[in-house]
Amino acid sequence: TYVVIDNCIACKYTDCVEVCPVDCFYEGENMLVIHPDECIDCGVCEPECPADAIRPDTEPDMDAWVTFNRKYSEMWPVIVTKKDPLPGYE
Ligand code: SF4
Repeated sequence: TYVVIDNCIACKYTDCVEVCPVDCFYEGENMLVIHPDECIDCGVCEPECPADAIRPDTEPDMDAWVTFNRKYSEMWPVIVTKKDPLPGYE
């Protein structure tokens, strides 16, 4: 799967959403996420992101981001607070 990382925070571009063939992006309060179970691993969104925020989970240390993307894909609206920090922001 591909996942969105924190480079996406506050990014208003949605070029990735427009190219995804299976509509597996979900919008949080301050960033987008990809549902890891719905992503078909086509990779077309990755070069569309101007913030370099979309990464394959085959990169090192992506487990927390996969968990994060799954969690917030299934939640609406998404509120990211200090109590529930993004990976790397603890
Ligand atoms: Fe959608 Fe393909 Fe990107 Fe997965 S890799 S989120 S299926 S565009």
